[in-house]
Amino acid sequence: MVFTIQVNNREIEARKGETILEALRRAGFEVPTLCNMKDFTPTGACRMCVVEVEGRQDLVPSCSHYVEEWMKISTHSPRVIKARRTITELLLSNHPDDCLYCEKNGNCELQKIAEEMHIRERKIPGSPVFIRPDRSSPGITREPAKCILCGRCVRVCEEIQQVATLDFIYRGSSIKVTPAFDRELNFSNCIQCGQCLLVCPTGALTEKVRFTELENKLHDASATVVAHYSPSVPLLLAEKFRLKPSVDASGVLKAILSKLGFDRVYASAFGTEVFIMEEAALLLRHIRKNENLPVISSACPAWVSFAENEFPDLLPLLSTCRSPQQMASTLAKMHVSEDKTVKEPDKIFTVAISPCTARKYESQKPELTRKGLPETDLAISISELFRLIRLYGVDPLLVESEGLPNGMKAITSAGRLSDISGGITEGVIRTFYFMATGNDLKEYRIEKLRNHKSRRDYTLKAGNHEYRFAVLSGLAMLPSLIEEIRSGTCNLHYVEIMACPGGCTAGGGQPSAPSQQILRQRAKDTFESQEKEILKCAHRSPEITELYEKKLGEPGGKKAVDLLHTHFTARNIFARK
Ligand code: SF4
Repeated sequence: MVFTIQVNNREIEARKGETILEALRRAGFEVPTLCNMKDFTPTGACRMCVVEVEGRQDLVPSCSHYVEEWMKISTHSPRVIKARRTITELLLSNHPDDCLYCEKNGNCELQKIAEEMHIRERKIPGSPVFIRPDRSSPGITREPAKCILCGRCVRVCEEIQQVATLDFIYRGSSIKVTPAFDRELNFSNCIQCGQCLLVCPTGALTEKVRFTELENKLHDASATVVAHYSPSVPLLLAEKFRLKPSVDASGVLKAILSKLGFDRVYASAFGTEVFIMEEAALLLRHIRKNENLPVISSACPAWVSFAENEFPDLLPLLSTCRSPQQMASTLAKMHVSEDKTVKEPDKIFTVAISPCTARKYESQKPELTRKGLPETDLAISISELFRLIRLYGVDPLLVESEGLPNGMKAITSAGRLSDISGGITEGVIRTFYFMATGNDLKEYRIEKLRNHKSRRDYTLKAGNHEYRFAVLSGLAMLPSLIEEIRSGTCNLHYVEIMACPGGCTAGGGQPSAPSQQILRQRAKDTFESQEKEILKCAHRSPEITELYEKKLGEPGGKKAVDLLHTHFTARNIFARK
């Protein structure tokens, strides 16, 4: 039912069953809030969204009160402003004053509200306590002193990601948000997907940044610094800097990275294609032997971390293929070290750029080192790339495209899909079908995997055989899948699990949380842009064929396995050092 309510002497449309905040936002009214999140049940924790409703004695939090037909609302009356200012002053009373040095400076919701309230001094003296920042985790830094107890991270971690690393402990003035037993993040079940970073309104949760190390390498003349970027990086660059659709964003990215001092630039999509070859060969082998089914993709390091922490019984099902980014690092290092102009091959430094915070953790895993050295020396996020671009004064709108990557150039459309949930499976199906039947699929687009559901199922018919695939976009459907597997009722052959809902385009390593609308647009843009590729399947790439002929042998063969596969270890999170 639709009716009108009055807001600031203007009539607006309201719908029965919606909150005052929803009606206000739809009508274009700006009401600040620090705890509200779209599609979550409101908690009313911060009270910042209070409004004055005629006839009501108290101010009401607009996020948790439903609209009623008779309502006359003031969103910015003197009483409302006074209440919001007091709430902000209370939050600031014991908040650290180090905004200049804070990772969130300029992107902090509390800072923005304090500025809007014109708060220029600490009016309410609190008792700021020094709480040591938690830097134990490779991907995420936690600064408990900056936590304003909004509860957003707790809800995302538990309700969306099903991980439940963070929660409130204690009561009254002692209350805080922390991992279990008030321990550091690295001693918890955190999977470092970074979804909490996207919703944290302050600098309490930020990504771990290794800027200085990267800058030092970029300025070290004896080092060969090699970047490879995930398929969504050019897309997000174009989105951030509003590049025209006619501009070749990958070519601009390559030129930017060269300007920043990177000696070589590759597309991680090449690693994805080798990953697809290995994954398809491994799947076929498991199906023929009828063992360890379903094969569960290990491309997402956050999911792998979840499995190693909490589902040790599933580890035998995980594909032993290293992730596409790890394969890209290995292959890029191999490619550059063969270049005779590189004087000191032991000083090749690989940097993986993606929207992912879990890659920071993955790059440091002992299982993924070679001779004790990491294959990916540094994993940086898109946020860090944007900061580098700003720091060095590069204007992407003025940069001319430099065209193709330095090597491993023949990217197929399959390699470009990996940052969208379902994209890896689509690529694997195209090559798996060829390996199983000797023919190419007639229709390479698999629409059933391209919707926005949390779980997508697809049955591939090949001759008399049927192969069943499933994609989990986010972890919401994981409990039911695990139940299926454990109870023996799962008839799937292959499962892709991406921890971030929507895939890597929703990764935690970007400046702010993308809306559902933006995520859908990113998926649409990805599908459209990969259509332009003439080559559709990894096994049809001449460079991939040559790589296998000259270096890797057979897909899934000994050489490829030694170089590109890994193993998984059940971890006792409480015994970590
Ligand atoms: Fe990283 Fe992508 Fe997994 Fe998110 S879905 S944790 S961005 S690999």
